[in-house]
Amino acid sequence: MKSTIFKLGFCIAASACSLLASAQTWPTKTITWVVPFAAGGPTDAMARSIADRVSKNVGQGIIIENVGGAGGTIGATKAARASPDGYTFLVGHLGYMAAAPSLYPKLAYDPIKDFDAVFRFPDTPMVLLVPTSSPHKSAADLIAFAQKTPGRVTFGHAGVGSTSHLVAAMFTNKAGIDVTTVPYRGAAPAMNDLIGGMVDAMFDQTNTALPQVQSGRVRAIAITSQHPIAQFPGVAALAEKTLPSFEASTWYGLYAPKGTPTDVINKLHQAYVKALTDSAWTKQMADQGVRLLSDGQYAPAEFSKHTAAEVARWRQVTTEAKITLE
Ligand code: ASP
Repeated sequence: MKSTIFKLGFCIAASACSLLASAQTWPTKTITWVVPFAAGGPTDAMARSIADRVSKNVGQGIIIENVGGAGGTIGATKAARASPDGYTFLVGHLGYMAAAPSLYPKLAYDPIKDFDAVFRFPDTPMVLLVPTSSPHKSAADLIAFAQKTPGRVTFGHAGVGSTSHLVAAMFTNKAGIDVTTVPYRGAAPAMNDLIGGMVDAMFDQTNTALPQVQSGRVRAIAITSQHPIAQFPGVAALAEKTLPSFEASTWYGLYAPKGTPTDVINKLHQAYVKALTDSAWTKQMADQGVRLLSDGQYAPAEFSKHTAAEVARWRQVTTEAKITLE
């Protein structure tokens, strides 16, 4: 018995030692970031843009692995079970890293116990979009129509518990309307159907909505930031008069499976901080309506605190807005 315990203790120590040793030479091979949505959506686009810069700064390639489904929880489960060796990470957002524990009764991972925060991405507000053929020119028009036709208006979203779903649920709840929601494996396939007029509306993040709006493929009728933003001229903030105090934006960032060496987390964070000193890049993000944060907010400890606070906050939001798995 004694020797079994001793061997076990020795093994645990040995594996910790080998992780520590490899952290010193890290990275010696390609790194994977799991994005739990289809390629081409806002999370994917932001992750690729950041991975590209971080990869140059750490001197190794970063592959984006798209593992879509169930509002991001499938990809998050996969990342939670990955080896904490510094070569697999999760791009996580408020849906599956904060709201999911309140929504999914049997979530296969715990956002706090199974992950360590690495760094936070800049926040991104959302835009309410309709097809260009839609008769609705404002959120008030859409709400008035939905009030007359309960259940008829369809809202595309990126899966149960995704940001586009949560914001749509908060919107319909606050507006007192009954709509039909249509889940996809990410915002990109939902956007395709919106452009084709297969769904009537959708909330998308500004970074991917902007090019579609500018090219005239969809129409923006409202924005979820507190005030209108220059990149979407003529588009009113929902909070202005339609739904006072309605404000929502996506936060997201990089997480490591619990047990990933702290050295690796710090090196990745430093590589990101260095990337953020490129003002041409940060301007490019700001030009997409993305909200840059203060330096401290990007850091692992701050992001970790933020995640824990958000898990608690979403418990309340999901109850108040009566958001369920449907
Ligand atoms: N983050 C998006 C959402 O939750 C989905 C995506 O990036 O494809 O709506």
